[in-house]
Amino acid sequence: MNVARAPDSGPHDLAEEGPVQVRTTCPYCGVGCGVLARVQSGHVEVRGDPRHPANFGRLCSKGAALADTVGPEGRLLHPYIHSEQVTWDAALSEVASGFQRIIREHGPDSVALYVSGQLLTEDYYVANKLMKGFIGSANIDTNSRLCMSSAVAGHKRAFGGDLVPGCYEDLELADLIVLVGSNTAWCHPVLYQRMLQARERRPGMKLVVIDPRRTSTCEAADLHLPIRAGTDVALFNGLLAYLHTSGAIDAKFVADNTTGAWEALAIALDSCRDVRTVARICGVDEESVSDFYELFARTERVVTAFSQGVNQSSAGTDKVNSLINCHLLTGRIGRPGMGPFSLTGQPNAMGGREVGGMSNMLAAHMNLDSPGDRALVQGFWESPVIASRPGLKAVELFEAIHSGKVKAVWIMATNPLVSLPDADRVRAALERCELVVVSDCIARTDTTAMAHVLLPAASWGEKSGTVTNSERRISRQRPFLPLAGQSRPDWWIVCEVAKRLGFVAAFDYASEADIFAEHARLSALRNDGARCFDIGGLTDLTRAEYDGLEPVQWPVRSRGDPGTPRLFVDRRFWNAGHSARFVPTTPKSPANATSTQFPFVLNTGRIRDQWHTMTRTARSPRLVEHVPEPFVDLHAQDALLMGVKAGQLIRVTTNWGTLVARLRTSGEIARGGVFVPIHWSGTFASEARAGSLVNPVVDPVSGEPEFKHTPARVEPFPVEWYGVVVTRQQQKTPDSTWWTFVPGGNCVRHEMAGRRRSTDWAKWARESFAAVGENADLLEYEDESSGIYRAAYIVDERLEGCVYVSPHPDLPARDWIASLFAKPQLAPAERIALLAGRPLQATPDLGPLVCSCFGVRRGSIQTAMAQHSCTTAKQIGERLKAGTNCGSCLPEIRALLASASVAEPA
Ligand code: SF4
Repeated sequence: MNVARAPDSGPHDLAEEGPVQVRTTCPYCGVGCGVLARVQSGHVEVRGDPRHPANFGRLCSKGAALADTVGPEGRLLHPYIHSEQVTWDAALSEVASGFQRIIREHGPDSVALYVSGQLLTEDYYVANKLMKGFIGSANIDTNSRLCMSSAVAGHKRAFGGDLVPGCYEDLELADLIVLVGSNTAWCHPVLYQRMLQARERRPGMKLVVIDPRRTSTCEAADLHLPIRAGTDVALFNGLLAYLHTSGAIDAKFVADNTTGAWEALAIALDSCRDVRTVARICGVDEESVSDFYELFARTERVVTAFSQGVNQSSAGTDKVNSLINCHLLTGRIGRPGMGPFSLTGQPNAMGGREVGGMSNMLAAHMNLDSPGDRALVQGFWESPVIASRPGLKAVELFEAIHSGKVKAVWIMATNPLVSLPDADRVRAALERCELVVVSDCIARTDTTAMAHVLLPAASWGEKSGTVTNSERRISRQRPFLPLAGQSRPDWWIVCEVAKRLGFVAAFDYASEADIFAEHARLSALRNDGARCFDIGGLTDLTRAEYDGLEPVQWPVRSRGDPGTPRLFVDRRFWNAGHSARFVPTTPKSPANATSTQFPFVLNTGRIRDQWHTMTRTARSPRLVEHVPEPFVDLHAQDALLMGVKAGQLIRVTTNWGTLVARLRTSGEIARGGVFVPIHWSGTFASEARAGSLVNPVVDPVSGEPEFKHTPARVEPFPVEWYGVVVTRQQQKTPDSTWWTFVPGGNCVRHEMAGRRRSTDWAKWARESFAAVGENADLLEYEDESSGIYRAAYIVDERLEGCVYVSPHPDLPARDWIASLFAKPQLAPAERIALLAGRPLQATPDLGPLVCSCFGVRRGSIQTAMAQHSCTTAKQIGERLKAGTNCGSCLPEIRALLASASVAEPA
């Protein structure tokens, strides 16, 4: 296969200064915060939109750093075929002719689209229309399959539709919030801050966190249940049984509005009748289980919010239904301050679901397996065909590419080589695929490197369309920057390919507004209350009305309808007979059990300041600094028994792959557990793709992979040396066994380690500094007996680069090195300090960044606590400003305060 090299990206000018402030929406998580953006003196400025009802002006650290991520660096600016820059016409024709040939020879199911929750609803709509209505296959799936398809399947089973019952306000009105498998403090930070602020106003409000890890979210919890991974169904079956036996049920609601209660109860009573049994299965103490059950039973206003810890499991759909069952039994749904609540991972996972952008859905919440729905959609689209059976779900799809069943794939706005389970097999699949098309806004990703045809897509700030957040709220993403280079909106790219496939009339849209209007019309088509998803009220928007569309929650059935904050208020569901359905759920062990060969349980997840595979967030130095490197988190006792210390390298091995990163012992993990973050790709580290470790087993109903439970082996990764090379610009780096790249503001660095020491470190280091030139002053220090080498390159009194090598990971403080790069000239003492590997006047290493907004490090907070008697987050904020902007770091500040108070002698 001829694999394309990612092209260089050229310059892209920001828009001329524009006085207009644009109201748009954050492109990261499913909270869907409103953002005010403008270009001022050539710089982009963003802040939270005080009028947006998702965030009322707040932004988390990622949202607040959006301006850092919109520059020209790293953008894909031109179309390419096999690494050669081509015209748009050539690239689009290549895609169309390739798809056409393969469809002609092998049928419509031999091609596929793999799309993304980053796409706007309009992009998603035309991609789905092309695949299901014109190519005639349902082989379109999305990376949203990886984060919330179990919630979709659970909703459909219980409610008869993919329907999120409540709204964010419910999280403020609840008297009890149960967070299940959700590190909300880091993954949905603005919502978490809303919850905590509501609790400040109503101190009686309780927060229970159910999570095998003791995450930052637990810092504010009244109760944390660190259940054994995969035992959620047992916990909620036990709760269902407890609610029944303690009489905390709404018998009238159950009788009038539900079916299946007694079947579900019979299984719950059979498997998890008493607290002792549940505590034993879940691996937690009886008292905690009892406290949780009692609190749930006696609190009317309960919201159970759940996320990836529930969904990403081989029993994810059952987990979702087991917790929904508890809300149905108590009738706590469709009323203020109560209900099950799916916290969506991606900015537009919900919008993708609305248009049917998954391989088992049709469009507008209609069903692929319904002949009536298929006829309705086909008639509306006037399409030659309509897919009549479900297509391949994400994991199956890449397996079908591997086996040669699918011969052409078009990947849009996602990086499956990093994010899918068994990611090494995904790479092998793409290597053998006849035609790989990738549209992306970023030039160099693990996936763009595999593309035969690369199509430059518009990015956030340039795109225009709509997204839907976790509370069903449709918001506009509006442009405030010109399109970079030759990039084009995804909807335009799809439509141009569709036209070249011969479907001119059906894809002849003048703008994204036309597509939205069609989507709205389809939602209302012969609906009359048959389907909950109905945005018919947004059908006839003028262009100005579309551009000015205020955030609104669907359904929006008629013009002027203000939208619908809560569903099921009228106790009407969308199953036959308008009942909600209890789904009997039986506790099951995760798909693969631990063994002597793989005795640990691998869990994967997000960190606070990175998004997905870092293609955008790594462009912000302040976001990078919070957690600059990949890591492996273990319980301290497990690390001790292995003889490894924090900072040393450690290898995680599963049946599917390996990963090497530094060890952390954060205190979040129970014994026998191991956690690695999902973000690092082959672009940023030699061997840190969490996806390559993950078991590709999926939930049988939803097709969602089991990212939270893979049996693993953990062992030391012995090396002879550790090193760091810091340069002003990215340079070629010398050879090493292990490396990770840390981008930055005024300097970048490669952290490295090796199995064999160099016999000539100076020669080794020169590989990085060839570009610095002959005129550089080279300062060197070497202690051969102890294996220490240090060098600095100085040009015109300014530091251009430095190298440190040691047999131990005891290299100089990286923030101190970065501070020297910020100086226009080095003082003589600083030159000496560079060689000494530390500041001459002892200054404490301030440790990792805690507050990204104000650059406050852990050491400064500890100093404020020790020397200025700060005992509350408020006092820390008053002294250092930390935590006073986005609030994303408040859980970490509270954890530092709590650990100090624990350490205080009695
Ligand atoms: Fe963006 Fe943060 Fe809001 Fe999520 S919580 S939408 S990442 S600002």
